[in-house]
Amino acid sequence: MTSTGLNDVVDFINLSRDRHVEELKAFLAIPSISALAEHAADLRRCADWIAGEMRRIGLHNVTLIETPGNPVVYADWLDAPDAPTILFYGHYDVQPVDPLDQWTSPPFEATVRDGEIYARGAADDKGQIFMHFKAIEAYMQKQGRLPVNIKFMLEGEEEIGSSHLDEFVRSHRRELAADVVVISDSPMLERGIPSICYGLRGMVYCQIDLRGSKTDLHSGSFGGAVANPAFVLAQVLAQMKDRSGRVKIPGFYDAVRPLTDEERAEWKKLPFNETRYRKEIGAPRLAGEKGYTVFERVWGRPTFEVNGLLAGFTGEGAKTVIPAVAMAKVSMRLVPDQQPDVVATLFENYVRKVTPRTVELKVTRMHGGKPWMAAFDNAFVRAAGRAIEQGFGKAPVFNREGGSIPVVSTFQEELGLPSVLFGIGLPDENSHAPNEKLDLENFHNGVIASAYLYREIAGVGRRSDAPGAPSP
Ligand SMILES: [Zn+2]
Repeated sequence: MTSTGLNDVVDFINLSRDRHVEELKAFLAIPSISALAEHAADLRRCADWIAGEMRRIGLHNVTLIETPGNPVVYADWLDAPDAPTILFYGHYDVQPVDPLDQWTSPPFEATVRDGEIYARGAADDKGQIFMHFKAIEAYMQKQGRLPVNIKFMLEGEEEIGSSHLDEFVRSHRRELAADVVVISDSPMLERGIPSICYGLRGMVYCQIDLRGSKTDLHSGSFGGAVANPAFVLAQVLAQMKDRSGRVKIPGFYDAVRPLTDEERAEWKKLPFNETRYRKEIGAPRLAGEKGYTVFERVWGRPTFEVNGLLAGFTGEGAKTVIPAVAMAKVSMRLVPDQQPDVVATLFENYVRKVTPRTVELKVTRMHGGKPWMAAFDNAFVRAAGRAIEQGFGKAPVFNREGGSIPVVSTFQEELGLPSVLFGIGLPDENSHAPNEKLDLENFHNGVIASAYLYREIAGVGRRSDAPGAPSP
């Protein structure tokens, strides 16, 4: 195949545009909600549907690999012996749909309105998986082969924390060997501004439980003689940040890699309207660490957040009570080179220090994930940038993300693989919220970009001696 011979593939994609949408609707009709046990059969049905689609477009070794939870769907195409191998990761499970009454159309009856397809999973992540299937289908139909080797690994537990994924990757190292991981599970910077994300924040999530008495107490009979856990909790949480937005946990910033002048200069060039951003959120004013811009605060600096509080009487009317217990869920977003375990310990020590002995304290570590950042000039990242430019007619910007995709560091650590985040969603796609949607123009351009991605990655060449043809 010549390096310019993609016209037939792109023509096929262009002619298939309406068919792609109809097929995507069938994928989106399966309520594969991993958080709810009653949908277990739907997850399997979804995995089977994907397997059927993979076989139909011409992938090989299509297998549902069992895990202690939902199966991983594996498939490959390894007939390009001298070309690199892409390991494609995605997930077929979706978030729950409540509150259902806020959906304009039913979450599992995909509906097109104003050029967007509305359904749970449209952007996160079924639409973005399907985009790659359609690019592969076009290659197979027009050229009978792909310019690269490809392996698919699609899991069904991403929305519930991917608890079996690390072990799966560890125990299938040989089968998953590749040159680069491609993940399409993130939004682009803004509508009309395609982007390649090269960094993610990590995460530590903890729960604080305080107990001041055996049961709730009468605030008249006991008020003044015992500590109130709700009030103590507020005091403890108030000590986590100072007035300039800096986290006060000792040692919290020790491992934070400072932003470079070069990176700060790049981010200053990105289009951003602070007033519009503020109004979209509906915040009276923005807040954050002094001395940093919004992008720097969200992408390049760590945070401490209170995710939930529970204490005392919250019903209608008044009840004079001193609550026996108070609880907070808190999380910290981490940046390179902070380590989740280290930060969790720093946090726990500090909470113990600032909590008075008048209450019993329990700290529970819920989950964590490492931050990740690719080298700015990584050849695969640049190849993805060229593919996006072909598909969207516009060079992408390079940005980081404030969120976390823990699997990216798993691939780095267990398989030694760099990841390319090739996402075509939009920031207002409502993933995890009612009225999730995917822009169909972006989807279509994404299928074309995906086709170019395989060619561009073929051009980078092989990074390692990743075996070409394992048996799964
Ligand atoms: Zn996702």
